[in-house]
Amino acid sequence: MYIVFLGAPGAGKGTQAVVVAQELKLAHIATGDLFRQAQAEGTELGLQAKSYMEKGMLVPDEITIKMVLERLSAPDYGNGVILDGFPRNLDQAKALDKAFLEQGKTINKVVYIKVDEGELLDRLSGRWICRNCQTPYHATVNPPKVEGKCDRCGGELYQRPDDTAETVKERLKVYFSQTAPLIDYYTRGGKLWEVDGKGELADVAKRIVAAIKEDNA
Ligand code: ADP
Ligand code: ZN
Repeated sequence: MYIVFLGAPGAGKGTQAVVVAQELKLAHIATGDLFRQAQAEGTELGLQAKSYMEKGMLVPDEITIKMVLERLSAPDYGNGVILDGFPRNLDQAKALDKAFLEQGKTINKVVYIKVDEGELLDRLSGRWICRNCQTPYHATVNPPKVEGKCDRCGGELYQRPDDTAETVKERLKVYFSQTAPLIDYYTRGGKLWEVDGKGELADVAKRIVAAIKEDNA
């Protein structure tokens, strides 16, 4: 089973992907996490991605697509995979479709987590992330049990450098111009399942799991 999570920065993709992946025993591939990990390790990939991420721009397609397809070629993902943060524009979506066609795989569902534009800004400005396992928290909506510490692994929480006001604006702009068109693309393909991303984390997670389990129409 291959599931794509689609939604604006701040819609809760990462938070929900962690929870849903655990519940449905799916692997979780988050492109943003892979890039941040590569930067922490100081690899060539990390260096290539850094300047784009700092500005809130998309990392060039040839770098991103190669990284994701390599990841997806791992031999055993058991129940399947949640793709979080990829595809993020039409060319990436088409590259994924082409690769899957060649490999006899298919995207089963695209879960679109919908949140109002106004709320996105609020959410992004209060965000804290575990340095160790990347689990995201929010100062008011979803605080950790112990301040500054990850509930899951005890790791240190930090604020992402691209969560500053200016970069957040650019990321939202990029989302609306480049990523939002994928909503149409996957609707036409009959794959899109819209889920309301507002409200309690656990309720949103339930809605997502229900959407994934529902029979394809
Ligand atoms: P968010 O969804 O909150 O913006 P992510 O962690 O998914 O956070 O992405 C952070 C940054 O990583 C993006 O702003 C972009 O620079 C880069 N990135 C992540 N996924 C992709 C992708 N599919 N294509 C290009 N760049 C990406
Ligand atoms: Zn952690």
